[in-house]
Amino acid sequence: SHLRKYFQLSTGLLSRRKSSVQAVDEVSFQVDRGETLGIVGESGCGKSTLARLIIRLIDPDAGEVRLDGQTVGAEVAIRDMRRAIQMVFQDSYSSLNPRLSIEESVAFAPAVHGDSHAAAARRAHQVLAQVGLDPAQFAHRYPHELSGGQRQRVNIARALALLPQIVILDEAVSALDKSVEAQVLNLLMELKREFHLTYLFISHDLNVVNYMSDRVLVMYLGKVVEIGPAEGIAEGGVHPYTRALYSAMPSMDPDQRVTEPPLTGDPPNPINPPSGCRFHPRCPFAEPVCTDTEPQLYDLSIAPGYQVACHMTIPGSGHTGAGVATRS
Ligand code: SF4
Ligand code: MG
Repeated sequence: SHLRKYFQLSTGLLSRRKSSVQAVDEVSFQVDRGETLGIVGESGCGKSTLARLIIRLIDPDAGEVRLDGQTVGAEVAIRDMRRAIQMVFQDSYSSLNPRLSIEESVAFAPAVHGDSHAAAARRAHQVLAQVGLDPAQFAHRYPHELSGGQRQRVNIARALALLPQIVILDEAVSALDKSVEAQVLNLLMELKREFHLTYLFISHDLNVVNYMSDRVLVMYLGKVVEIGPAEGIAEGGVHPYTRALYSAMPSMDPDQRVTEPPLTGDPPNPINPPSGCRFHPRCPFAEPVCTDTEPQLYDLSIAPGYQVACHMTIPGSGHTGAGVATRS
């Protein structure tokens, strides 16, 4: 449908400099308006690189981002994309200029985009109130005078100041205490409803991703290995990597828990990824085809848009799957 194509990324390949990591390789997905897509994977799998490619903090070697079917950089100017797509990072402190007051920080982007000084300040007060920070109390404070949770609310206010359509949250709550984290997650949910936002929610915390997301995309060494409804992924998914990742998840209901061999070792070096399926050196189900041939994403019938890249789960592939679950 048209909505499916609302936000679309195809082929982000980063391999430009010798020293650079080929972190994201031919990743392609679509997000609906108003949807939250969770992005999970071990650190170094390319989650943050993907986010930076999307907002062009890094130039992709190939591929394109489409907003409402329009190609960014052609039909949509980069400048307009940077209004429409905002990002909130993990480190609430270094995201803020310590010499600017909260009001100045939040008013900065509206002023750059043409608001008068007074209008930008008014906008700052408005969004500060929307994120639960009383402007009378906070506008003239400085970042070091705020708690981590308050600073992250300021960063969310800055992201909202330009009325974005999409907000990329890259480990945005990961540095917060659990109780503060819950408050900020609920704030994000409220803001999403109120302003019809679309979120890309990047996190290593699978519980938080499942709580926030409609669908989840699982990355391994720069590749998408599985994408599907959050509830399907939370039950352990289909791909052996997803199943291992979720079986290591600490606070899952033990009755629901997937019992798979745990992930051992670190992911291999993404500069020189393994042949065939990149997961094969760590996969308990690997067969010779896995070393030779890279599995492509294919549609699973269990839900619309559910895709997995694993040889052993392709129906009728002739491979028995050596115990890989193909949930039906
Ligand atoms: Fe494991 Fe082979 Fe599937 Fe890769 S393609 S996840 S190595 S079974
Ligand atoms: Mg990261």
